[in-house]
Amino acid sequence: MDKYDVLKKYFGYTSFREGQEALIDDILNNRDVLGIMPTGAGKSLCYQVPALLMPGITLVISPLISLMKDQVQALNQAGIHAAYINSSLNEAQIAKALKLAAQGQYKIIYAAPERLETYDFLNFVKSVEISMITVDEAHCISQWGQDFRPSYLKIVQFIRQLDKRPVITAFTATATENVKEDIVCVLGLQDPEILVTGFDRKNLYFAVETPNKKDTYVINYVKKHSSESGIIYCATRKNVETLYEKLKAQDIEVSKYHAGLTAEERKVNQDDFIYDKKPVMIATNAFGMGIDKSNVRYVIHYNMPQSLENYYQEAGRGGRDGERAECILLYSPQDVVINRFLLDNKEQNNEYTPDEAAAVRERDEERLRAMTFYCMTTGCLREYILKYFGEKGASYCGNCINCVSEFEEVDVTDEASKIISCIREAGQRYGINVIAGILAGDDRAKLKEYGVFEYKTYGSISGMSEAGIKQIINHMLIQNILWQTNDKYALLKLMDKAGQVVNNDIRVIFKRPKKDPAKENGLSEGSAAKRSTSKSRRSDTLNSRGLELFEQLRELRTAIAREEGMPPYIIFSDKTLVDMCVRSPLDKKEMLSVTGVGENKFERYGERFLKVILDYTGGIREKFYFGE
Ligand code: ADP
Ligand code: MG
Repeated sequence: MDKYDVLKKYFGYTSFREGQEALIDDILNNRDVLGIMPTGAGKSLCYQVPALLMPGITLVISPLISLMKDQVQALNQAGIHAAYINSSLNEAQIAKALKLAAQGQYKIIYAAPERLETYDFLNFVKSVEISMITVDEAHCISQWGQDFRPSYLKIVQFIRQLDKRPVITAFTATATENVKEDIVCVLGLQDPEILVTGFDRKNLYFAVETPNKKDTYVINYVKKHSSESGIIYCATRKNVETLYEKLKAQDIEVSKYHAGLTAEERKVNQDDFIYDKKPVMIATNAFGMGIDKSNVRYVIHYNMPQSLENYYQEAGRGGRDGERAECILLYSPQDVVINRFLLDNKEQNNEYTPDEAAAVRERDEERLRAMTFYCMTTGCLREYILKYFGEKGASYCGNCINCVSEFEEVDVTDEASKIISCIREAGQRYGINVIAGILAGDDRAKLKEYGVFEYKTYGSISGMSEAGIKQIINHMLIQNILWQTNDKYALLKLMDKAGQVVNNDIRVIFKRPKKDPAKENGLSEGSAAKRSTSKSRRSDTLNSRGLELFEQLRELRTAIAREEGMPPYIIFSDKTLVDMCVRSPLDKKEMLSVTGVGENKFERYGERFLKVILDYTGGIREKFYFGE
């Protein structure tokens, strides 16, 4: 067997995705690798395929129990012998698993980093041939990352104790330089091949919306997508609870997750979501690491997150199966205030020196600012994200709200000049709220205290709301006419270009989206759905007969999932079911050509799915999709 056979036989895929093949080849040539690929790119396959082609056992170190369980279930379904060893098993179960492992029962073994130091485990690894050690979610080893896990540092110790050093491979979705260097250094990778694939996720549609009532937006959206699974992220536990109650009151099947729930509650709720018993999950960012659910069709952020790193990771949990998914961020200016509060109250790592603490704080502020600009920009959202992660993007992606919306251009040079005069008059000592308040002529007590009522510029843009003025200020920040200081006061300062604006040498043009009332309340078709060409939704692909067949296949999948106590997407992904409709296979051979149907999966379920298709078509070929 070679790598292609393994890919087809066990995973049911016919071709590798970007980066996979190169990494697999390196590993098979005994070279250490570090694979940096976005969520959903298919990192697991990069080590699972070579694991099956190497003589000994592959040990996968993974940070979370849920992650391991999910992966092992999926492997077993594919007919690959795998097991996990972690604290969810009792002593006797661990002993048994290790015994079977020592007898060579498993090709791939997942373990938590804490496990590595235990006497029994060390004994076991010394008694067998370990061909490869894979460190999944390898960013956990870096103190720079958000998910630093001190126990990951034990991996190095562990490797040193082995008689023979196996090939070491590491995978993560975090691409920053610091994290990359940490992984290579701390893990002691030897002349590693470092492969970074593009961070673009073409099947994700991005949007920022500013609805008047976020709750109404969410309720409408969820109802409109009732047959789909989605995640709604909130900034605080309290938000999760309130929104949860509101959705429940609307008879929506919804689950919730945050750190304030007991471990048991969290587990039950998470399973309800994963097993598709409750398609909607409302959660804080405590939820998600280790959720490999592949059919998440939308990720709504009820609040703006603290950084684009967080946002892209959370939003990236949509559409892992490669099918279209929508990532919608509901922005309100208040989110910036909440986030600043969270930063102010963030638990400081007390190992930091004051200088380090200040540097971290500055970095956090910088991240928050970049996140805020994402919500403001009228340019391509995908381009903005890719640029942030150090990649070039095209200025038009055709699959984000800004690329598919209509804008009107407004000349705001006059307002911009007044803003500049005001900042100058204020001696560049205030932030955006005070400046906007002065210009709008607001009479709140705070402003009186500052003595700004005397300013010449006080009330000079009184015809516009404060929110409107702030929008222009934000635009001027993006245009590098103004800048904000890097501390928590975020004072507004003038840049060189400000002089040119005042002298009328350059005009300030503001792109403003044309109002779409349907969009305001979550009812629009996500305008992209109609126009997107790159990835279409199911309903764009399958005709009505096809959709009906899809539903039947999905029912069968749910039934099997219940019988076996498995998440439905582990049986077959949505993408596989769509492909079954498109190809409408009438025999085993045709069924095996469906993406995601490998030999083992066919053995297990193939006939039952075939039967549904045969019953539905009467064995006569029919076209279930639009187009050629
Ligand atoms: P990551 O760990 O990079 O976030 P996963 O390894 O969980 O991503 O893979 C995401 C999804 O992509 C899985 O459903 C997986 O089966 C699928 N996948 C991986 N490689 C391929 C491939 N070559 N062809 C088709 N689907 C693939
Ligand atoms: Mg993964």
